[in-house]
Amino acid sequence: MNTVDVTIIGGGPCGLFAAFYAGLRGMSVRIIDSLPELGGQLMALYPEKYVYDMPGFPKVMAKDLAKAMIEQGTQFHPKLVLENTAQELIDCGDHYIINTDKGLELPTKTIIISAGPGAFQPTKIGAVGEDEFIGNGVHYGVRDRSIFTNKKLAIVGGGDSAFDWAMGLEDIAESITLIHRRDVFKAHEDSIEKVKNSSVDMKLFFVVKEIHGDEKLNGLTLENTQTKETEFFDCDEVCVNIGFKSSLGPLKDWGLEIEKNQIKVDNKFETNLPRIFAVGDVASYDSKLKLIATGVGEAATAVCIAKTYLDPEAKLFPGHSSDRDH
Ligand SMILES: Cc1cc2nc3c(=O)[nH]c(=O)nc-3n(C[C@H](O)[C@H](O)[C@H](O)COP(=O)(O)OP(=O)(O)OC[C@H]3O[C@@H](n4cnc5c(N)ncnc54)[C@H](O)[C@@H]3O)c2cc1C
Repeated sequence: MNTVDVTIIGGGPCGLFAAFYAGLRGMSVRIIDSLPELGGQLMALYPEKYVYDMPGFPKVMAKDLAKAMIEQGTQFHPKLVLENTAQELIDCGDHYIINTDKGLELPTKTIIISAGPGAFQPTKIGAVGEDEFIGNGVHYGVRDRSIFTNKKLAIVGGGDSAFDWAMGLEDIAESITLIHRRDVFKAHEDSIEKVKNSSVDMKLFFVVKEIHGDEKLNGLTLENTQTKETEFFDCDEVCVNIGFKSSLGPLKDWGLEIEKNQIKVDNKFETNLPRIFAVGDVASYDSKLKLIATGVGEAATAVCIAKTYLDPEAKLFPGHSSDRDH
């Protein structure tokens, strides 16, 4: 792998703005994210909520804001290393190497950590046999709709993602059953209404206790949360949508100064380690606000300071973006 000028850990709003700004300043950029898609909390936690405090947008849906930030953040073609969690840091003097959980070794001159509350991982159901069938019948969210073509699909969850996918896959799956541990849902009322009026079945007050199959998943043991009785449920695929967990995890072992699950920075957003910056929700300093509007400013500052380390002749202030030739 090539050594890049800056590696950004976390492709949420602040990481994306850092990538844009670094591109603007002519730096080569890599973004690492543990999730399969960019957007951070906007996409993982609240895609359908409105955000009211973005400059220039009186009201914008989180997923639309994420889409625009992704377009802006990738316009200088950063290298994207998705579904990889930054795990180990090796200090090589004039550069660092970041090792990921998938075995990639990524050399970089500087690092901007925009890891939010930490690497997001989908929450598992905790059923017996779950790990054995991951990718072979058990899916967390939907990456490729076609997998479910003509399949008997069980969707687990009671939030917007579960309901959106129940409707989104109805046209291609042979059958869909939504399994939820109670009869109260977090999804929007209109999504619930749509699913109730569709061909999707619901099994309420059930949890998945065991996943069965030989080479391929072929059924589930469900437990009734009220009676504790169990039953076999025949299906080909399970799509789990019960949220995400986050953890700073391995970053805690990098020798960074951490306070309350955040990385301590100075007024240049520098950590205690040379050429490593932290911005956005993960950064900790006096009067810190965990907001996108403030986090993206931190990202621009960190990029400009990193630029002066890479090129001591470079100015800190890059001029205005509106002065660029198009
Ligand atoms: C329900 C809700 C509503 C909100 N509403 C608003 C609002 O209206 N206005 C507002 O300004 N803010 C709002 N926020 C807060 C806002 O979303 C955050 O401030 C913002 O997302 C922080 O951006 P970030 O780039 O710092 O981190 P995040 O968005 O958290 O992104 C961090 C990314 O880093 C990745 N990552 C972490 N560790 C690693 C690792 N080791 N390796 C690889 N990848 C890693 C994660 O997978 C994640 O994708 C809201 C938050 C929530 C939960």
